[in-house]
Amino acid sequence: MEPKIYFPEDHGLDQDLIDPDALFILKKLRDAGFTAYLVGGSVRDILARVKPKDFDISTSALPEEIKKIFRKNCILIGRRFRLAHIRFGRKIFEVSTFRAGETDEADLIVRDNVWGTAEEDARRRDFSINGLFYDPYHKTVIDYVDGWHDLKEGVLRSIGNPEVRFKQDPVRMIRLLKFHARFDLKMEPGCVKALKSCREEIVKSAPARILEELLRMLESGHGHDFFKLLSEYQLLDLLIPELDQFLRSENGSQVYEFLKTADLIHHKNENVTLERSLLISCILFPIVERQIADFCETHDKTPNFGELSVLVWSVIRETMTSAFTHFPRKISAISAYIIITQYRLTPFGKRRSHRSKFLHDKDFPLALRFLRIRALADNQYSDKFFEWENMYYQIKKHHGDKKPKYVSQKRRKPKRKSAQSNS
Ligand code: ATP
Ligand code: MG
Repeated sequence: MEPKIYFPEDHGLDQDLIDPDALFILKKLRDAGFTAYLVGGSVRDILARVKPKDFDISTSALPEEIKKIFRKNCILIGRRFRLAHIRFGRKIFEVSTFRAGETDEADLIVRDNVWGTAEEDARRRDFSINGLFYDPYHKTVIDYVDGWHDLKEGVLRSIGNPEVRFKQDPVRMIRLLKFHARFDLKMEPGCVKALKSCREEIVKSAPARILEELLRMLESGHGHDFFKLLSEYQLLDLLIPELDQFLRSENGSQVYEFLKTADLIHHKNENVTLERSLLISCILFPIVERQIADFCETHDKTPNFGELSVLVWSVIRETMTSAFTHFPRKISAISAYIIITQYRLTPFGKRRSHRSKFLHDKDFPLALRFLRIRALADNQYSDKFFEWENMYYQIKKHHGDKKPKYVSQKRRKPKRKSAQSNS
């Protein structure tokens, strides 16, 4: 099928929004005799006049041919999905060979390395708005999937039958809700129907891919709307049942309140990405609070720090690590630290610890930033936040970046008696 082609006078696309290194890669591939286009989310974003987060490239060159052109700047990765990563300093560009799509059978796909034409590559993509190509040489947008029209109309439409596509790769259901939350696009009724009928398939997807989509959505500044949708369309219930139950309980609104605050911080600070451990703390902290209330009721006392630590880790294990066996240990450990430190910053009762060694902890700034999120969500913590922030900067000014002696001091080894004194 001939694609629809849109010229500069139609799209008015601002080439300055494209990373010059991405343009360089596209040019090198073209100079070597291959077809190469900008694809996916980056084309969608520049057409919507949004600066893309990353730039993906599709080409007629095979992975080994890409490797030959970019040599040591290029590594080939993935077995199921073999593609090239081209590195420029700290930036990495994903360059993949045009792939043929799936057949029409609604089976879970396990192999993905069947090379194809540009058209086949567009058709294997998830939604029409993500299936557009941009050719920087001719400055044209190439559209095999009616993505241009859907983008203008603000519609999220699956490429191909949504029920078949969701069964082939259930992560697409999460991506449907992600684009709905992020761009406020209308979901085409067929997609909604397929989402409802295929939802149980979600458990067949690789947990690592689901976790990555969830974390990326938390970082995107649309975490609040996205988690609402995940729960509303009953996907969360299948993915992290403990969290879904909590969100539906009377305390669930606290998680949404924190997520809304984190989203607000993101948008107010030129789309700064908050640390994953902070965002995970937004979800876990209200659950910990609820469990502390239960602890107090059963034990008739507040938990000490040992008990608190056990409680926080059990919440992390039950919510995040039970659902995602490979939930990164580093995120768990920092989130646990952030949450436990809240009870030093705003202790139970009136008693306040005069020890402030923990202000020198490596991750203390994150705990302080979480207190700021709490203060923004509930202004009864504002004074406390400013008090600690003040103290933290005072100490930093006083000690510079050096750790104070009492933290780093090493025990002196007792001096060995010299041979002379022994004699
Ligand atoms: P983001 O802005 O979050 O990066 P994106 O659409 O660019 O959104 P990526 O995960 O970077 O998402 O994927 C790049 C492109 O790869 C998509 O735009 C889409 O064309 C294609 N794609 C990604 N995931 C799938 C999938 N599960 N099925 C089919 N195509 C996909
Ligand atoms: Mg992308």
